[in-house]
Amino acid sequence: MDIERRSRKVKRLASKLEKEFCRSNHVYIRYFKRDNDKYTREMTFEEWMSEAEKKYLENVFSPYDDLGLVERFMDSSPESIINKSTGDGAFSYGVCLRNPSGKIVGVAVFHGITEARVDAPKEIMTTNEEDLMSSISFFSILYETESLMENENESIRGALDEVQSESDKTSLLLKEKMAFSDILSKLESEGEFTEVAKSILGIAMKQLGFDEAALVGLDANGTKANIISECVSADVFSLSDKYHNLLKEDVPFFNGRRYTISTSNDLPEKFLHFFKTMNIKAGAFYPLYIREDASMYVQFISFTDRVIEHSEIKFMAEVTSVLQSILTRRITTNSLTSSYVTLEEILENAGCGMQVVDVEERRILYSNSIFKEMILNPKDKSEIEEILLTREDVVDQKTRFHATGTDKWYDITFSHIKWVDGRMVRLCTLYDISLLRQYQEKIEHQANTDYLTGLANRKRFELDLSLNIRRATRTGQNGAIILIGLDDFNNINDSLGHTFGDEMLRTVAETLEKIAASSATVYRIGGDEFVLLLSLSNSREMDAILHKIKEAFSSRWNVMDTECYCTASVGIAYYPIENDKSMAVFARADVALRDAKKHGKNQVSYFNASQKEASEERLSMEMALREAVDLGCNEFEVYYQPLVDISKEGYPCCGAEALVRWQSKKLGRMVMPNEFIPVAEHLGLILRIGSYVMLEAAKKCRHWNDFGHPEYKVNVNLSVSQLLQGNIVDTVEEVLSISGVNPKNLTLEVTESLAIYDIEKMTSILKDLHELGVRVALDDFGTGYSSLSYLKFLPLDVIKIDKCFVDQIGDNGFSNAFIDTVSKLANTINANVVVEGVEKKEQASVLSGMDIDMIQGYLYDKPLPQAEFEKKYVE
Ligand code: C2E
Ligand code: CA
Ligand code: CA
Repeated sequence: MDIERRSRKVKRLASKLEKEFCRSNHVYIRYFKRDNDKYTREMTFEEWMSEAEKKYLENVFSPYDDLGLVERFMDSSPESIINKSTGDGAFSYGVCLRNPSGKIVGVAVFHGITEARVDAPKEIMTTNEEDLMSSISFFSILYETESLMENENESIRGALDEVQSESDKTSLLLKEKMAFSDILSKLESEGEFTEVAKSILGIAMKQLGFDEAALVGLDANGTKANIISECVSADVFSLSDKYHNLLKEDVPFFNGRRYTISTSNDLPEKFLHFFKTMNIKAGAFYPLYIREDASMYVQFISFTDRVIEHSEIKFMAEVTSVLQSILTRRITTNSLTSSYVTLEEILENAGCGMQVVDVEERRILYSNSIFKEMILNPKDKSEIEEILLTREDVVDQKTRFHATGTDKWYDITFSHIKWVDGRMVRLCTLYDISLLRQYQEKIEHQANTDYLTGLANRKRFELDLSLNIRRATRTGQNGAIILIGLDDFNNINDSLGHTFGDEMLRTVAETLEKIAASSATVYRIGGDEFVLLLSLSNSREMDAILHKIKEAFSSRWNVMDTECYCTASVGIAYYPIENDKSMAVFARADVALRDAKKHGKNQVSYFNASQKEASEERLSMEMALREAVDLGCNEFEVYYQPLVDISKEGYPCCGAEALVRWQSKKLGRMVMPNEFIPVAEHLGLILRIGSYVMLEAAKKCRHWNDFGHPEYKVNVNLSVSQLLQGNIVDTVEEVLSISGVNPKNLTLEVTESLAIYDIEKMTSILKDLHELGVRVALDDFGTGYSSLSYLKFLPLDVIKIDKCFVDQIGDNGFSNAFIDTVSKLANTINANVVVEGVEKKEQASVLSGMDIDMIQGYLYDKPLPQAEFEKKYVE
């Protein structure tokens, strides 16, 4: 795809972002690009500043000095930041920009002025060293994720394409073989030769995608060309009339030779003329012999440009030899032997395994050598014979067959043909589909693999676990799962960058695989969560594994030549317990893991009696939740929290976020979403709850729009599993049509965590949603695994900045700068910005000075029951 266009887009975004970034972080950046070991200054801050500002900066920070700083970076050196103090309250920091393989692609030089001189123009921005460092690390994260994402996407796409194209090729080959088997079944057809030839040419033409196929010869006088039999893909393509006007000498292939001519500019003169008059762009021509003379020709014609592939040439030659054999037989009418020889020759060279049996006599008449090579095992041999001889209904059916003791798979097709002596026999054809199967398996493998670490993923884990439980229940043995969650992984990600974080995860994955060795399987089931699945747990093995895990996580990790600590919490659960379901086993391990985290992290917790209560609570919640959903979701109530528009006088309400509550009769209390949504996701109930909430909210919004507030919008939260499972696009379409709400007034909130899943798939789902006219919001922005670099992939209309940044407003320059930068960036992609969790007046007043559209928080209102919301904001 147009990588170039994309990179231009990124560049434009980057230069725009750079200005915004500099303005909100109070820094200046000069960017140097490296090409062939030479650095050139690329983006310059001069473009967006006043003359006075520019002059002052050139004076304090000479570009010549910058170059000296830049050249200190070497591919092999570990530094990524080099500091240079210019004195006089000015600092320069070089930040090295590397591609994922470590090669330096450029250097960004950050300039910060901590104390401006008296002669400084008033526009000059000053900063302090701490804020300067914060902006630098923010910038590095931004850059790293961006370059990593590009790289990751490219390589995944490359691998998939490769597998896909191989698999396409193989299935094409298979189709060709099937067509050939069709052709073979016509070998002994009765009727005119021209008719038989026509039907054979028809199959071949269709298979190869030519426009015309024909038998060509001479007319009765032997002077002019003549089409004896013709198949065309559409009436307009018939060459019949044109051939009638051709003299024998003008047909360039009437010379007994074979031609396969792809479209090209330099044809021999004779063909050039012929192709022009006939309007042909490519074609193949093969002679057919009557006795010794080439008296007829088979032709395949294309009226559009095409290249004739090698495999197609082979196929056409095979078809021609079938036609030749029919022709020969018709001519040497009664010669049984000669036709047997020809027939055998054809079957022998067909390129697939073939066997002919006489069902009446229960006798094998013929097997070609490929068949004999394919079926070596005596057991397989008799099995196939059995099928062929006894089963009446096998004709026209396909059977899959695995050759014992090999990795070979065959598709077997059966058809009836007339044998040389006139009796009807059964022909069985074996196609080797092992390659196709291999590719299919490879594609399946990709779906079950975590792209980052290469471990099996969550989908695979769920499948394996339920299989293991079933097996354990049957055999009466015990298995266990060890659930491992890294402690404070987000901190590592934030402070050391995403490239580092990803590498860390890969290192952990490798270590766990070594530890598990042959006694367990390792999965990555979430951002920073891994599972070891043991199908047979004996306590010695378990102790050994745990010991190794503890050892690994208590020592330093060495990642990308940096040493760091990262501990882990571990939860363990055994299975099966009575009629265990995989969800219950996982829930127990999860409870144990949360327990380990709760008690200070970096420890192992077994699921035990005291947690049993928690897990029983969880199970009873699961049961109640199932019931609530089965009974039609009536226990769920949608609350609405207003969003206020801070660009308008008096901060009017402009819509609401729909937040679900569960009034559970069975549990006897109101359950908050943070408590039951994860459970609903686990149980796969979120789809139904989610659709219920969405429909309720959409209906209400339509009502508000109809009754005096046409501009009100409603926001609905979507879980990642709603995006992954089921058909969210259909659901939304249905909600729109039932509620009749204007799609523009429905906003779907998704969280950043979707980025740890297949980002391309997510992007395409979000794009489909977008096409329905609804708006998409990125929720909890800034907390998750991702970063700003996602913004350019996803079709976003709204960005909701998480509460944690609001909490730190004022305390810390970085929070302000973050909100400011994000809001400006949002502007460049035409998205609105909502800041969540505003509780204090002071926070609101800081925000009102920024480029923000909406605010949501307790300062204005808590989430309200529908009636209350309407009373306050609608009536
Ligand atoms: P969220 O989408 O981030 O929703 C905002 C949460 O912050 C709400 O919690 C809201 O009550 C709370 N909040 C709003 N303003 C303030 C404030 O000023 N201060 C503080 N401390 N909190 C504030 P709630 O209603 O408990 O919802 C929690 C989460 O549950 C939501 O987080 C959302 O992720 C999820 N959720 C809620 N309803 C649904 C739903 O229908 N479907 C899905 N999939 N998830 C939902
Ligand atoms: Ca939300
Ligand atoms: Ca949120």
